[in-house]
Amino acid sequence: MGEVEIRRSRRRKRTISAHREGDKTIVLVPAHLSQAEEDKAVRSLVDRLDRREQRSRPSDDELMARASQLSQAWFDGKAQPLTVRWVSNQNARWGSCSSADRSIRLSDRLKGMPSYVVDYVLVHELAHLIEPNHSKRFWALVDAFPEATKAKGFLEGVSWTQR
Ligand SMILES: [Zn+2]
Repeated sequence: MGEVEIRRSRRRKRTISAHREGDKTIVLVPAHLSQAEEDKAVRSLVDRLDRREQRSRPSDDELMARASQLSQAWFDGKAQPLTVRWVSNQNARWGSCSSADRSIRLSDRLKGMPSYVVDYVLVHELAHLIEPNHSKRFWALVDAFPEATKAKGFLEGVSWTQR
């Protein structure tokens, strides 16, 4: 658990809420709460935030499992990678696929992004196992994924701000 800042508010009656500002967790607490009540509530809120963020930061194994699910859902299981893993040395691309050894690599810059964005990059790389080039046929495969357009827009937005 990182740094936690507690802000007591007299205007707050019952609800406690927590959000992240960078690595810091800000917890808003009603002023009347006892120290024990506060400790307990803060711990459970921070736990819940940690768990929620974990979901968009899958491990290599979870990434592999997700790729199989997506292959089943969108490619009748025809796109089967041998390995799927995160890499930290891939800054120019979100993902890459080698059809020679059927390996998919995802840039760890995707970690923490919405899961439909990670799914889209997986779908994109999986489609390369069927169609290596960015051909018409390739985009027809990718665009069958319902959130493809939304995810492309999200990633373009991120690239734009990081120019
Ligand atoms: Zn591609």
